[in-house]
Amino acid sequence: MTLGKLLKSGADKLAQNGISEAALDARYLLLHVTGISPAMFLVRENEETGAETEERFNELIERRASRIPLQHILGTQVFMGLEFAVSPDVLIPRQDTETLVERVLYDRQRMENSPSLLDMCTGSGCIALSLAVLGDFRQVVAADISLKALAVAGENARRILPRRWKDWEDENNGTSRFRLIQSDLYDNIPGDMEFDMIVSNPPYIPTQVIQELEPEVRDHEPWLALDGAGDGLKFYRRLAAESGAHLKPGGCIYLEIGYDQGPAVRSLFEAAGFTNIEIIKDIPGQDRVVAAKWPQEGTHV
Ligand code: GLN
Repeated sequence: MTLGKLLKSGADKLAQNGISEAALDARYLLLHVTGISPAMFLVRENEETGAETEERFNELIERRASRIPLQHILGTQVFMGLEFAVSPDVLIPRQDTETLVERVLYDRQRMENSPSLLDMCTGSGCIALSLAVLGDFRQVVAADISLKALAVAGENARRILPRRWKDWEDENNGTSRFRLIQSDLYDNIPGDMEFDMIVSNPPYIPTQVIQELEPEVRDHEPWLALDGAGDGLKFYRRLAAESGAHLKPGGCIYLEIGYDQGPAVRSLFEAAGFTNIEIIKDIPGQDRVVAAKWPQEGTHV
């Protein structure tokens, strides 16, 4: 069979199983199996494949047809132009979340001194690491309740930081500008640790809504990273109450939110004493990020 025909048979099988991006997914899987680049594929489409390639490809198509996420099969996902390792222990990085990162970078450019950053609920580390690489941060701390997620974030730090973030590890005294902390929100964050910026994409899907999500998400992604309890707002309540203690005066927090959570999250942060609250839309035009400022010294009540 030619590569082109093999691709078509895989895409048909995925389409029959209700995979919406069947042709695209089949192409990614074939490129993965053969190691051929997208450009070279066009030239080699009429080449005969070996039995071994066919067998390995068909095996991956079977897995994808059973609704295992493409990224779990490939083991990676690109976010902000960087390739992150993913596993079933972390949320697969979403394009929606790039809205959050881009907004932080925008604000970062307007700051004079290199800020410190905390990423709460880091998962794969995609937010913390892309900001470390693309913005100039003095220090980046990434926290998560899950040790398994932190193992993935650590793998991504080793994969992404060494060539791209200057002096990220000080080999002489063993300190690192990038640090992982296992913590249920702020429980294990030292009380005197304050940041210029805090970012978070916490779990925010109401429990009963998770049941209605695509099988890829519902059955294969960690509920720990999705489940925001009854109304989806559980973690925003705690973040609103606890984040001020870890922000410098005038520091800002940036939160990813669900499309219908903007007004509720705004109220929670307003009630907790934050100011300059903004709701920011993603590219499709849905509310996606809430940004809020912790007041300057002397203005607290
Ligand atoms: N945006 C994700 C989804 O729709 C959820 C992310 C989260 O709960 N933090 O699956």
